[in-house]
Parts: sequence; structure tokens; C-alpha cells
Amino acid sequence: MQQELQQLKDHSNLRRLPEIEHDGRNVIVDGRRMLNLSSNDYLGLAADRTLREEFLGTLTPDNFLPTSSSSRLLTGNFTVYEELEAEMAQMFGTEAALVFNSGYHANTGILPAVSDAQTLILADKLVHASLIDGIRLSAAKCIRYRHNDLAQLERLLSQHHTAYRQIIIVTESIFSMDGDQADLAALVRLKHMYDNVLLYVDEAHAFGVHGKHGLGCAEEAGCIGDIDFLVGTFGKAAASAGAYIVCRKVIREYLVNRMRTLIFTTALPPVNIAWTLFILRKLPDMQDRREHLAHISRILREALQARGYACPSVSHIIPLIIGPSADTILRADALQRHGFYALPVRPPTVPEGTSRIRFSLTAEVKEEEIKALEEELRS
Ligand SMILES: *Cc1c(COP(=O)(O)O)cnc(C)c1O
Repeated sequence: MQQELQQLKDHSNLRRLPEIEHDGRNVIVDGRRMLNLSSNDYLGLAADRTLREEFLGTLTPDNFLPTSSSSRLLTGNFTVYEELEAEMAQMFGTEAALVFNSGYHANTGILPAVSDAQTLILADKLVHASLIDGIRLSAAKCIRYRHNDLAQLERLLSQHHTAYRQIIIVTESIFSMDGDQADLAALVRLKHMYDNVLLYVDEAHAFGVHGKHGLGCAEEAGCIGDIDFLVGTFGKAAASAGAYIVCRKVIREYLVNRMRTLIFTTALPPVNIAWTLFILRKLPDMQDRREHLAHISRILREALQARGYACPSVSHIIPLIIGPSADTILRADALQRHGFYALPVRPPTVPEGTSRIRFSLTAEVKEEEIKALEEELRS
């Protein structure tokens, strides 16, 4: 272990848990107070004290339940879970919804549950680690297609659709590291070419942020009903914890019977589910925050492109791709000294040679602050 850690250190890839204090939209690290440009609190709801005050006003010792004490299949299925799922299904216009402890639980649990040895998974090369782990835990065969290369995906489908009982296409809608987007409408068209193809979309970065009611890219593309496994998380824009799938009834029932990361874990605390429901009801009215976030994101992307950086992003996740890890760390340090808390992202999270500073903007960031950051990047 010591040797391996030393090697990581030599390659500037050693990680540590940062000591960090939070103060609304700012963080304090090593005594330095900085604007948090690395948060997943995309709508700024986690930083909003008045929301917490309002929610606290709904709590009493009787409904403040900090534990479910059990799996949902035993005694952990409090009514607030069913209430949240009913409202999710209604908002999305789907037959059913099912809530999980985290996005990691969702992605490592769903694919193993629904796959067998006659299943082929076709996954985008850049899908999140939790999806990779889900694929590894499944009995399916898997082929990764080049990132967003739908021509390659189409060829793979036509080559393999007769040899397997089912094929599952797996993608994110907005990708974690490049901030670019999958073409959901085109994926839906591909899926409909054969009757044994299913589509799995992870909207972790889009739920709350995209769509007129904040339901994600699938809402924007008008294809919620065409996605068999539409998954999202509550830990990012929704300022809570947990994850969901919206799907057909039969899929929900199947997961309740087969999904190990749902069955063999203590359900999230009811008070957490109540907070998620409290936030969920407000999401449709957050259009101002979504528009502001889109506005400042566009300004920063255009600034990077104007400076000659290849910026694949179309969203609020904006990488400044530098290449070598050591340079990336120096650059991130310099930004931090000037009050911008942006973090370097290195292998193995991103491919070797593409270390980057990853800006993850929130609706709390002001346009002037983006302008100041732009100045900083110029120097
Ligand atoms: C954050 C993230 C997850 C994990 O969700 P958690 O609720 O944090 O476990 C899954 N998929 C993607 C694409 C993510 O960005």
C-alpha cells in the first residue's frame, strides 16, 4: 500500500479528504475563503437557509424520523416514501417511480437485477463509475461504444440484436466530466429500430436543471415515455440525498423483487424523504434559477472557447482541460489563491493526459463573479 501511495504521489495523483468548512455559497479551506465553483448544488437550494427554515417549521417530534430502522421490504416502508413516489410518477407522467438510497445504489443495483447472460449492454465510453460497477456486477455481456458515437451504436445494434434476448443501451444525459449531452431523441429512434432494445438514461446532472419543470433532459426532448429506465439523483440539484427511477409498473415490481441494493439495505431516513418531497414540489417554480444558471454557464464556456480551449461542454459542468496532472494542480492552486474554489480532476476519473479543472456552476454564482473568473483565466 505504501509503495502504491508513493507512486500516486509521484504522479501527482494522490487524493486526500479535504478539510473544508461551508458558509453558504463559499467554502473555507486552509483558512482561505473562496467562492465554491465545485459544488453540485446546481440550483443553489442547499445554500438557501430560508428553505431549511420553512422545512423545519413542518417538523414535530412525531414526524422528525431520523431513521427507517429497516429495509423497505421489512418495516422501513414509511408512507412518505409512497407519497414521494406517487408524486414523482405524476410529475413525470409515468406509471411508476421507485426511490433508492443513492445514485450509486441505483446504478449498481438496477442493471444486475434486470440483466442475465442473454443480455448485451451497450454503454457509452464515458458513463459514470457507478454504472460501470453495475455492469460489472451483472451477468450481461458489455460493449462500450465511443463517446456519443451513435453511428457506431447503430452498427452494434444491427450486428448483435438477433444474438441476444435483450440489449440495454446505457448513457448519461449530461456527462459528469465533459458536461456535454447525449442526443436522447436519436437514442430513442435507435432503440425503436428493434423490439428487444431497452434504454437506460442517468440524469444525475440534469434533474432539477433541465426541462420546463426541472425534470431533466428527457422532459426537454419530450421522450420521458420512451426511456425504459429513467434514473436521476436527489443529491445534486435537489439538495437532498437518494435517487429515483421512473418507469413502467412491471419494472418497478421486478426491481422490488430482484434489486439487491434496494432489498438489502436500510432505507433512507423518513425525514430525508420528507425533505426531498418538500424540494420536489418547488422544482417546477425554479425556472428563474435554471435560466440564470444557463446564462452564466454560456458566458464561461464562451470565454474558454475564445481563449482557445477545447470545451466540449453544453451545460453548467465546464471543464478547463489542461492535460498533465501537475500543471492542472498548479493552475487550480492559482485560482484558489484568487478566491475561486475549483478543483483539479485527474486520472483515473478522467482519461490519462486529460487532467482538467472542473467548474461546476450553481445558480448562486453571479454574473460579475464569472467575469472576474474570466479575467483570472486571461492572466
Ligand atoms: C453523482 C452521480 C451518481 C451517484 O449519485 P449519488 O447519489 O451521489 O450516489 C450517479 N451517476 C452520475 C452520472 C453521477 O454524476
